[in-house]
Amino acid sequence: MKDVIIGLEIHIQLNKLRSKLFCSCSTKYHDSEPDTHTCPVCLGLPGTLPVINRKAVDSAIKVALALNCEIEEWTMFYRKNYYYPDLVKGFQISQYDYPIAIDGKINIEIEDVEREIRIKRVHMEEDPGRLIHVGTIDRSRYSLIDYNRSGMALLEVVTEPDLRTPKEARIFLNKLKNILEYLDVFDSSLEGSLRSDANISLAGGARAEIKNISSYKGVEKALLFEIVRQNNLVRRGVKVVQETRHFDEARGVTISLRTKEGEEDYRYFPEQDLVPFTILDRVDDIKKTLPELPDAKRKRFVLKYGISDNHAKVLISELGLANFFEIVATELDAKLSATWIADVLKGELNYRDLDISAFSPDHIIQILQMLEKDKITENGAVQIIRTIMDEGGKPSEIVDRKGLLKIETDASENIVLLVLEENPAAVQDYLGGKEESLHYLMGQVMKKTRGRADPNTVSELLKKKLGC
Ligand code: ZN
Ligand code: MN
Repeated sequence: MKDVIIGLEIHIQLNKLRSKLFCSCSTKYHDSEPDTHTCPVCLGLPGTLPVINRKAVDSAIKVALALNCEIEEWTMFYRKNYYYPDLVKGFQISQYDYPIAIDGKINIEIEDVEREIRIKRVHMEEDPGRLIHVGTIDRSRYSLIDYNRSGMALLEVVTEPDLRTPKEARIFLNKLKNILEYLDVFDSSLEGSLRSDANISLAGGARAEIKNISSYKGVEKALLFEIVRQNNLVRRGVKVVQETRHFDEARGVTISLRTKEGEEDYRYFPEQDLVPFTILDRVDDIKKTLPELPDAKRKRFVLKYGISDNHAKVLISELGLANFFEIVATELDAKLSATWIADVLKGELNYRDLDISAFSPDHIIQILQMLEKDKITENGAVQIIRTIMDEGGKPSEIVDRKGLLKIETDASENIVLLVLEENPAAVQDYLGGKEESLHYLMGQVMKKTRGRADPNTVSELLKKKLGC
């Protein structure tokens, strides 16, 4: 197998802005009928002029700073000319020379080893409309166009070809998404919020560009497919050609769209309707608005709360989860909080495809307080969490309704005696050396107490009563 070289171009929709990049149309179109969030500017009608959204530029600078980029002194827009039905003007207002920022980096973690992925540039451009192919792109008989997306502010983040495996590409994208969510510049749950083009080549071969992959897992799958495809060509002695390919998510294959156009084919020229403008003078103010980013938060969690790095890593993976942890950790032991939130709660949420907003920090505080005061068992705590997620309700009320109060040692002792009396055969087996019989007796006690007795106490009581 030859070495794999992967670079990504990621389009990030700045969908938390109120208006589009060059007009005042609302960005909240995701649940609307087609073509209801449009105006003469984003429909590209003759005679209209673009006016830049200042807040979009600030968001772009914010992202570039978080990606450790060098912000340019001034910036300007270009026209990128190509014809496609989703592109209303026949050109896209984009950037070329003098983008917002260059030379950044993100650290990613691959099996506990840190790797630095360089960012080549960060630039701004307008989103085209959305083409909806009926069926698959290569076989559909017609396509529909929705111009609601036309003119949305996009950030394009271009990496150097530093990624070596499809898995690294996925980890990189997750890290990027994590940072963007902390910056509060985009909502990843919205359709089309993050779209990637992946460039991939085998050492010495030509490069394929896979366009517009809309899911994180899709990037990994498309790249895996492409590695196999290109390796097969090389093995058969066929030359890999430079081309643009489309990833068909449903079939898990890439399809040739066209041989790749070179940069000169786009006939970039300066956008005369927008003047060049300085940005460096805004950087200091924007720097002050940068929040604590994921890596810094992870380090702080370990130092301040004394929790494990692994728990910290899980907790910072979503801003909501990190904030949730900090609320709980101010009321309770931090390690206990981290364990229950990162291991138990997160697991139960994932199982139900819910996020942390579905659970109240007050509820976990109440549950863990009952656990600390020995009023419920760990098993009982898990049952309360599941019941809240599945049926709703409050912890104390669920404890009453489901009878989850922990059974005192005295009461457990009576039940142990009762179980021994009812199961003379198992007692004989155990005394005769059959170890498994103890598990059976234990199970009988837990059944009678409906899991409300502490397993360690029960095990000790059983052994005591059996005289060993
Ligand atoms: Zn508009
Ligand atoms: Mn682009």
